[in-house]
Amino acid sequence: MQAGSAIFRGAKSPRTEPRIVKIIQKCLGSGAVAFLLASSCVAGGARTSSLRPLPVYRLRLYETHRRQHIDIVYRRGNQYIPSALAKLDYFLRDHLNGDVPGYNPGVFNLLVRLAAAVGKPNGEIDVICGYRSPATNHYLRVHSAGVALHSLHMKAEAIDIRIPGVNTDSLRETALALHRGGVGYYPHSNFVHVDVGGVRQWCFECTARQVAGN
Ligand SMILES: [Zn+2]
Repeated sequence: MQAGSAIFRGAKSPRTEPRIVKIIQKCLGSGAVAFLLASSCVAGGARTSSLRPLPVYRLRLYETHRRQHIDIVYRRGNQYIPSALAKLDYFLRDHLNGDVPGYNPGVFNLLVRLAAAVGKPNGEIDVICGYRSPATNHYLRVHSAGVALHSLHMKAEAIDIRIPGVNTDSLRETALALHRGGVGYYPHSNFVHVDVGGVRQWCFECTARQVAGN
Protein backbone atom coordinates (compact mmCIF):
# COMPACT_ATOMS: atom_id res chain seq x y z
CA MET A 1 0.00 0.00 0.00
CA GLN A 2 2.90 2.27 0.72
CA ALA A 3 5.10 1.21 -2.20
CA GLY A 4 4.23 4.21 -4.39
CA SER A 5 4.78 6.83 -1.73
CA ALA A 6 8.14 5.35 -0.73
CA ILE A 7 9.61 6.22 -4.14
CA PHE A 8 8.93 9.91 -3.67
CA ARG A 9 9.91 10.26 -0.05
CA GLY A 10 12.11 13.36 0.09
CA ALA A 11 11.21 14.51 -3.42
CA LYS A 12 10.03 17.85 -2.03
CA SER A 13 13.60 18.77 -1.16
CA PRO A 14 15.38 20.64 -4.01
CA ARG A 15 18.69 19.21 -2.85
CA THR A 16 17.67 15.58 -2.99
CA GLU A 17 15.57 15.67 -6.15
CA PRO A 18 18.44 15.63 -8.74
CA ARG A 19 19.99 12.66 -6.93
CA ILE A 20 16.72 10.78 -7.05
CA VAL A 21 16.39 11.57 -10.77
CA LYS A 22 19.86 10.14 -11.43
CA ILE A 23 19.10 6.98 -9.53
CA ILE A 24 15.82 6.49 -11.34
CA GLN A 25 17.43 7.23 -14.73
CA LYS A 26 20.02 4.59 -14.05
CA CYS A 27 17.41 2.02 -13.19
CA LEU A 28 14.57 2.79 -15.55
CA GLY A 29 15.71 5.18 -18.27
CA SER A 30 14.79 8.81 -18.91
CA GLY A 31 11.26 8.09 -20.19
CA ALA A 32 10.34 6.48 -16.92
CA VAL A 33 11.75 9.47 -15.05
CA ALA A 34 9.48 11.86 -16.91
CA PHE A 35 6.49 9.74 -16.00
CA LEU A 36 7.52 9.35 -12.39
CA LEU A 37 8.23 13.05 -11.91
CA ALA A 38 4.88 13.93 -13.44
CA SER A 39 3.28 11.46 -11.08
CA SER A 40 5.12 12.98 -8.14
CA CYS A 41 3.61 16.37 -8.97
CA VAL A 42 0.18 14.83 -8.71
CA ALA A 43 1.05 12.99 -5.51
CA GLY A 44 2.52 16.09 -3.89
CA GLY A 45 -0.23 18.36 -5.08
CA ALA A 46 2.28 21.20 -5.45
CA ARG A 47 1.66 21.73 -9.15
CA THR A 48 -1.32 21.07 -11.30
CA SER A 49 -1.18 18.24 -13.80
CA SER A 50 -3.51 16.74 -16.33
CA LEU A 51 -2.48 13.26 -15.13
CA ARG A 52 -5.11 11.58 -13.05
CA PRO A 53 -4.19 9.85 -9.79
CA LEU A 54 -4.03 6.08 -10.00
CA PRO A 55 -7.36 4.39 -9.34
CA VAL A 56 -7.48 2.69 -5.96
CA TYR A 57 -9.07 -0.75 -5.59
CA ARG A 58 -10.53 -1.18 -2.14
CA LEU A 59 -12.50 -4.07 -0.70
CA ARG A 60 -14.60 -4.15 2.44
CA LEU A 61 -15.61 -7.69 3.35
CA TYR A 62 -17.48 -9.37 6.20
CA GLU A 63 -16.75 -13.07 6.70
CA THR A 64 -19.96 -14.58 7.98
CA HIS A 65 -18.51 -17.75 9.57
CA ARG A 66 -15.87 -16.03 11.67
CA ARG A 67 -17.78 -12.76 11.90
CA GLN A 68 -14.72 -10.74 10.92
CA HIS A 69 -14.32 -7.63 8.84
CA ILE A 70 -11.57 -6.43 6.55
CA ASP A 71 -11.19 -3.07 4.83
CA ILE A 72 -8.21 -3.03 2.51
CA VAL A 73 -6.68 -1.43 -0.59
CA TYR A 74 -5.16 -4.27 -2.60
CA ARG A 75 -4.31 -2.51 -5.88
CA ARG A 76 -3.33 0.92 -7.15
CA GLY A 77 -3.63 1.32 -10.91
CA ASN A 78 -2.21 -1.88 -12.34
CA GLN A 79 -0.02 -2.55 -9.32
CA TYR A 80 -1.19 -5.19 -6.90
CA ILE A 81 -0.05 -4.84 -3.31
CA PRO A 82 1.41 -8.22 -2.26
CA SER A 83 0.96 -7.69 1.48
CA ALA A 84 -2.70 -6.81 0.95
CA LEU A 85 -3.28 -9.85 -1.27
CA ALA A 86 -1.75 -12.02 1.47
CA LYS A 87 -4.13 -10.53 4.03
CA LEU A 88 -7.09 -11.20 1.76
CA ASP A 89 -5.91 -14.79 1.24
CA TYR A 90 -5.74 -15.33 4.98
CA PHE A 91 -9.11 -13.65 5.48
CA LEU A 92 -10.73 -15.93 2.90
CA ARG A 93 -9.09 -19.12 4.20
CA ASP A 94 -11.00 -22.39 4.45
CA HIS A 95 -13.50 -21.88 7.25
CA LEU A 96 -13.27 -25.49 8.45
CA ASN A 97 -9.57 -26.38 8.40
CA GLY A 98 -7.89 -22.99 8.03
CA ASP A 99 -6.02 -23.76 4.79
CA VAL A 100 -4.88 -20.51 3.21
CA PRO A 101 -5.34 -20.11 -0.55
CA GLY A 102 -3.56 -18.00 -3.15
CA TYR A 103 -6.58 -16.20 -4.53
CA ASN A 104 -6.81 -15.21 -8.16
CA PRO A 105 -6.86 -11.39 -7.85
CA GLY A 106 -9.37 -11.34 -10.69
CA VAL A 107 -11.95 -12.38 -8.10
CA PHE A 108 -11.21 -9.23 -6.09
CA ASN A 109 -11.48 -7.08 -9.21
CA LEU A 110 -14.78 -8.74 -9.99
CA LEU A 111 -16.11 -7.90 -6.52
CA VAL A 112 -15.06 -4.27 -6.90
CA ARG A 113 -16.80 -4.01 -10.27
CA LEU A 114 -19.88 -5.76 -8.99
CA ALA A 115 -20.22 -3.57 -5.91
CA ALA A 116 -19.87 -0.46 -8.06
CA ALA A 117 -22.36 -1.78 -10.61
CA VAL A 118 -25.06 -2.26 -7.95
CA GLY A 119 -24.47 1.25 -6.63
CA LYS A 120 -22.42 0.23 -3.59
CA PRO A 121 -18.85 1.24 -4.43
CA ASN A 122 -16.77 0.53 -1.33
CA GLY A 123 -19.84 -1.01 0.28
CA GLU A 124 -19.27 -3.98 2.55
CA ILE A 125 -19.77 -7.40 0.96
CA ASP A 126 -20.86 -10.40 3.02
CA VAL A 127 -18.78 -13.49 2.25
CA ILE A 128 -20.68 -16.73 2.73
CA CYS A 129 -17.87 -18.89 1.41
CA GLY A 130 -14.38 -18.09 0.13
CA TYR A 131 -11.73 -20.73 -0.34
CA ARG A 132 -12.51 -24.43 0.12
CA SER A 133 -9.83 -27.06 0.40
CA PRO A 134 -10.60 -30.32 -1.44
CA ALA A 135 -11.32 -31.96 1.93
CA THR A 136 -13.82 -29.28 2.91
CA ASN A 137 -15.45 -29.37 -0.52
CA HIS A 138 -15.88 -33.13 -0.16
CA TYR A 139 -17.29 -32.74 3.34
CA LEU A 140 -19.81 -30.15 2.18
CA ARG A 141 -20.82 -32.31 -0.79
CA VAL A 142 -21.58 -35.17 1.59
CA HIS A 143 -23.42 -33.08 4.18
CA SER A 144 -25.22 -30.50 2.08
CA ALA A 145 -26.56 -29.86 -1.40
CA GLY A 146 -25.49 -27.62 -4.24
CA VAL A 147 -21.72 -28.18 -3.92
CA ALA A 148 -19.95 -28.96 -7.19
CA LEU A 149 -17.42 -31.78 -7.47
CA HIS A 150 -14.90 -29.57 -9.26
CA SER A 151 -15.82 -26.33 -7.54
CA LEU A 152 -13.72 -23.29 -8.40
CA HIS A 153 -13.71 -22.49 -4.69
CA MET A 154 -10.94 -25.12 -4.51
CA LYS A 155 -8.88 -23.10 -7.01
CA ALA A 156 -9.50 -19.87 -5.11
CA GLU A 157 -11.30 -18.54 -8.17
CA ALA A 158 -14.81 -18.33 -6.70
CA ILE A 159 -16.65 -16.67 -3.85
CA ASP A 160 -20.21 -16.74 -2.50
CA ILE A 161 -21.57 -13.34 -1.53
CA ARG A 162 -24.47 -11.07 -0.79
CA ILE A 163 -24.42 -7.30 -0.42
CA PRO A 164 -26.51 -5.75 2.39
CA GLY A 165 -29.08 -3.38 0.97
CA VAL A 166 -29.01 -5.02 -2.45
CA ASN A 167 -31.70 -7.46 -3.51
CA THR A 168 -30.01 -10.77 -4.31
CA ASP A 169 -32.03 -11.04 -7.54
CA SER A 170 -30.53 -7.73 -8.64
CA LEU A 171 -27.06 -8.82 -7.58
CA ARG A 172 -27.38 -11.92 -9.73
CA GLU A 173 -28.69 -9.97 -12.74
CA THR A 174 -25.87 -7.47 -12.44
CA ALA A 175 -23.25 -10.22 -12.15
CA LEU A 176 -24.67 -11.88 -15.27
CA ALA A 177 -24.55 -8.59 -17.16
CA LEU A 178 -20.82 -8.23 -16.42
CA HIS A 179 -20.05 -11.45 -18.37
CA ARG A 180 -16.96 -12.00 -16.25
CA GLY A 181 -17.33 -15.66 -15.33
CA GLY A 182 -19.74 -18.03 -13.67
CA VAL A 183 -22.79 -16.85 -11.75
CA GLY A 184 -24.74 -19.21 -9.52
CA TYR A 185 -27.91 -18.17 -7.75
CA TYR A 186 -28.97 -19.71 -4.42
CA PRO A 187 -32.23 -17.94 -3.56
CA HIS A 188 -33.08 -20.18 -0.59
CA SER A 189 -29.78 -19.27 1.07
CA ASN A 190 -29.90 -15.73 -0.29
CA PHE A 191 -26.48 -15.55 -1.91
CA VAL A 192 -24.82 -15.43 -5.30
CA HIS A 193 -21.77 -17.41 -6.37
CA VAL A 194 -19.39 -15.57 -8.69
CA ASP A 195 -16.16 -16.86 -10.19
CA VAL A 196 -13.59 -16.04 -12.83
CA GLY A 197 -14.00 -19.27 -14.77
CA GLY A 198 -15.93 -19.56 -17.99
CA VAL A 199 -19.06 -17.47 -18.51
CA ARG A 200 -21.98 -19.65 -17.44
CA GLN A 201 -24.87 -19.59 -15.01
CA TRP A 202 -27.03 -21.81 -12.87
CA CYS A 203 -29.84 -21.45 -10.40
CA PHE A 204 -30.02 -23.88 -7.48
CA GLU A 205 -33.44 -25.25 -6.57
CA CYS A 206 -35.09 -22.38 -8.39
CA THR A 207 -38.58 -21.92 -9.66
CA ALA A 208 -39.08 -21.55 -13.41
CA ARG A 209 -39.59 -17.85 -12.80
CA GLN A 210 -36.31 -17.57 -10.93
CA VAL A 211 -34.47 -19.51 -13.63
CA ALA A 212 -35.84 -17.10 -16.23
CA GLY A 213 -34.70 -14.19 -14.08
CA ASN A 214 -37.94 -12.24 -14.08
ZN1 LIG B 1 -19.85 -20.88 -4.70
